[in-house]
Amino acid sequence: MGKLFVVGIGPGDRACMTGRARAALDAADVLCGYDTYIGLIRDLYPAKEIYTTPMRREADRCRAALEMAAAGRTVALVCGGDAGVYGMAAPVLELAEAYPAVDIEVVPGVTAALAGAAALGAPLGHDFCIISLSDLLTPWLVIERRLRAAAAGDFALCLYNPASSRRPDHLRRACDILLDAGKSPDTACGWVRNIGRTGEERRILPLGALREEAVDMFTTVFVGSSATFVRDGRLVTPRGYAL
Ligand code: SAH
Repeated sequence: MGKLFVVGIGPGDRACMTGRARAALDAADVLCGYDTYIGLIRDLYPAKEIYTTPMRREADRCRAALEMAAAGRTVALVCGGDAGVYGMAAPVLELAEAYPAVDIEVVPGVTAALAGAAALGAPLGHDFCIISLSDLLTPWLVIERRLRAAAAGDFALCLYNPASSRRPDHLRRACDILLDAGKSPDTACGWVRNIGRTGEERRILPLGALREEAVDMFTTVFVGSSATFVRDGRLVTPRGYAL
């Protein structure tokens, strides 16, 4: 029986890799994934077989990994952050029925929301929502509805895929929706770029200013709830303890 690990290696250059992720990579005969993520771990395994595919060939990559595992090999399909968060775990499981001889194990990793939150302080200290601003696979109207619902629920928000070269204005549009839905322009917010990688940058600023920020696809954005505040240069969303 072949084995397929679907592995999230954390957001950065291995500092946030879980022990289970490292053990799965150690156990694999073949490392499979998008070349950026393979590049982050390649030097750990100079002798291992590597199978890379360009971005946007996700289904091909999942099928290729399942095929190799079905042939009896131990395969690690490598994703950034956590494999289950906008990653490969869901499509692999959707395709799994056709590969009954493959034992699939989803290996948890540290998603960008958690590592980015730690870099900014504790913005996710109470209830929060993660929303992706990418409309490649989700209609913008659905994204807008979810932003409005999160604002109505006064959740802290973590925004993935806040922009790309083809859609540079998504963060501004999202901020305008949140402001229109009643969030204060003074809401404490922040962003982190290149979390855990060389050149990590971060910034804390109010929602009214966040809409002017030029962010890219390597950035994760945080929008506070009405309770979030800045203390000594860090974002804090209080848990509610009497301190
Ligand atoms: N599976 C990944 C998410 C993939 S979606 C995870 O769990 O983290 C891609 C988005 O994740 C990016 O647009 C960005 O918003 C966020 N992201 C992933 N890695 C990041 C990093 N090192 N620094 C900042 N943001 C990152």
